Amino acid sequence: MRALFAATKAARAKRWDAGRFSFNVAKGRCATCDGEGFVSVELLFMPSAYAPCPTCHGARYNPQTLTVTWEDRTIAGILGLTVDEACAVFAAQPAVLRPLVLLREIGLGYLRLGQPATELSGGEAQRIKLATELQRAQRGDALYVLDEPTSGLHPADVDKLLAQLHGLVDAGNTVLVVEHDLRVVADSDWVIDLGPGAGDDGGRILASGTPEHVSRANRSRVVGSRTAPYLAEALGLAFAQR
Ligand SMILES: [Zn+2]
Repeated sequence: MRALFAATKAARAKRWDAGRFSFNVAKGRCATCDGEGFVSVELLFMPSAYAPCPTCHGARYNPQTLTVTWEDRTIAGILGLTVDEACAVFAAQPAVLRPLVLLREIGLGYLRLGQPATELSGGEAQRIKLATELQRAQRGDALYVLDEPTSGLHPADVDKLLAQLHGLVDAGNTVLVVEHDLRVVADSDWVIDLGPGAGDDGGRILASGTPEHVSRANRSRVVGSRTAPYLAEALGLAFAQR
């Protein structure tokens, strides 16, 4: 996106390169907030709070940088778009569109492009890392460890994420997911059920095997799997369990 701005007539006339449009580089960003868009306010007896930058009002750039527009949008305006909106704006720019579509496909279409990393949930941060990884050429020998990547996701977006994870596995990689979402558990090749309770009450392997096998765990012997009946339900299997 920065390259598109650097290629505009206005930027070339000023000899501005792509770095001018990065809030990580001093030349184009707001000097008051160093491109953060907000400033830390020290409060007596209280933890410090964040307030919008009084100079750029959250735009992150200095006024000169914002005189350059690409298709009537400033770089700050672009960073205010959601991934879904940006997919439409950059529909004719394949190099920009490809990573955007990937983000949309793993259920991050609602994120703003300029969303600070500190505002991301753990699940969102993992999905962004995953999108970065999916863009790389797959060597097929990697182990991916994900901790509740579906947290906060709409069921429709869980399906999208699962499709991407299956793509990694189909390419020969191994994906290990720590997960409570039973649709994800039911969709796995191998399940390790830890329990029986949480924290100090757990930590034992109650059952392991295919999802079908683990869903029957309480039938063969008393293992006390709380997961089994719900997993059976997620698999569409009806077992009489207690
Ligand atoms: Zn500022």
